[in-house]
Amino acid sequence: MSDGVYGRALGLLAAWAGVSFLTGFVTTAAAGWAVFASGLLAAFLYNAHILARMARWLARPLTESLPEGRGSWEQVLAGLHRHEREATRRQEALADALARLRLAAEALPDGVVILDADNRIEWCNDTAAAHLGLDAKTDAGQPIANLVRDPQFVAYLAEAPGGTPAPIQVELGKDRVHALQVIPYAQAQKLLLSRDVTQAERLETMRRDFVANVSHELRTPLTVLAGFLETVRELKLDPQRVRDYLAMMQEQARRMQRIIDDLLTLSQLESSPPPAAESVRILPLLQRVREDARALSGGRHDILLDAHPEVDLLGAESELASAFGNLANNAVRYTPTGGKIAIVWRDGPDGAKFTVEDSGVGIAAEHLPRLTERFYRVDRGRSRDTGGTGLGLAIVKHALARHDARLDVESTPGKGSRFSARFPSKRTSPAASASAGVGSQPAA
Ligand code: ADP
Repeated sequence: MSDGVYGRALGLLAAWAGVSFLTGFVTTAAAGWAVFASGLLAAFLYNAHILARMARWLARPLTESLPEGRGSWEQVLAGLHRHEREATRRQEALADALARLRLAAEALPDGVVILDADNRIEWCNDTAAAHLGLDAKTDAGQPIANLVRDPQFVAYLAEAPGGTPAPIQVELGKDRVHALQVIPYAQAQKLLLSRDVTQAERLETMRRDFVANVSHELRTPLTVLAGFLETVRELKLDPQRVRDYLAMMQEQARRMQRIIDDLLTLSQLESSPPPAAESVRILPLLQRVREDARALSGGRHDILLDAHPEVDLLGAESELASAFGNLANNAVRYTPTGGKIAIVWRDGPDGAKFTVEDSGVGIAAEHLPRLTERFYRVDRGRSRDTGGTGLGLAIVKHALARHDARLDVESTPGKGSRFSARFPSKRTSPAASASAGVGSQPAA
């Protein structure tokens, strides 16, 4: 190309020299020289103009446009235009790749912060901004330790060990727990990763509490049992005394048995697939629940059944029986002798409702949100004396949830409680066979 430019410039010079010579030949030599000199001056000024435009473009290539040129410049500037177009295309492709990378980083479920050698924020994704309370735009360039002031994190950052340090867990406001990890890369840059581990931490705490609770619940009867065994073995007791001790040991063994049975029921409810939607006939089920409650009451309570079911429930009969049975048994256990208990069934187009209402001891409002927690008891002594395991309502909650049902509890201390299970209409189907229904009949 340079040869072409050179040849073209020489060609132009030669042509102009020819024109000047002819002018000098036709007129005077001075006029010929004057024409030649004016041509050279015009060429000089034109080149200076193009050079000035190019200098301007070089200084601000993004805002200034490349000049168009004529003559020798045409070829040079056409080449430059081609280069500029190529550079713009490459720049656009790069910006596109960068935007895609950023979108990918934004889509990450974890927070990502890029830190420079001085732990200043270069960039962060939205998740990191939410986790760490940063503003992705205004906080760029700020030292991260000025913005995330948790002392444990600041110490972790300052340690700056050579390799990749293990993550730390910090509580960053609003009861949220985050795992933070610094990963060095490139020269002295670092990635700060953040992950919300609140739920995992909660589950871990629940698991620890659960193991501690189970151990405690089983240890008490086991200690009593071991004590009796030792007494019977070591002491010479009369046969009646031995029989008394054996009866007490049996009671402790039964208590452990009940806890283990309930734990197995709970674990089965948690781990088995959702119950099949089999049609469960309601009236016979409710009658069985009432009979069991009557047996437990031993005639100490008025137990009513008020039910005119027009639907069947869709679900697993054994789970529904366990949920309804636990609620009715609780009513018996927490209602003093002479009290009233009503088992009520209502259904309609909006679904169905099973209710157990008692005139028992009632529950203070502050306990209501925790009733379905495993081993949560309002009155530990009463629960134990009536054979409770502290797992009944946890079983009820799980069994109902598996049937898309909700447990509502209303209670007034000293007056009584109402436990209701509400089933959505999708869990009901028209009763397979018409049932007579039972209305407000005292069953005791
Ligand atoms: P428990 O085996 O101790 O009865 P549950 O899980 O069935 O365990 O119930 C949890 C707690 O809720 C009970 O210890 C008791 O304090 C309270 N409770 C449950 N049902 C009733 C009720 N009908 N009336 C009063 N308190 C109740």
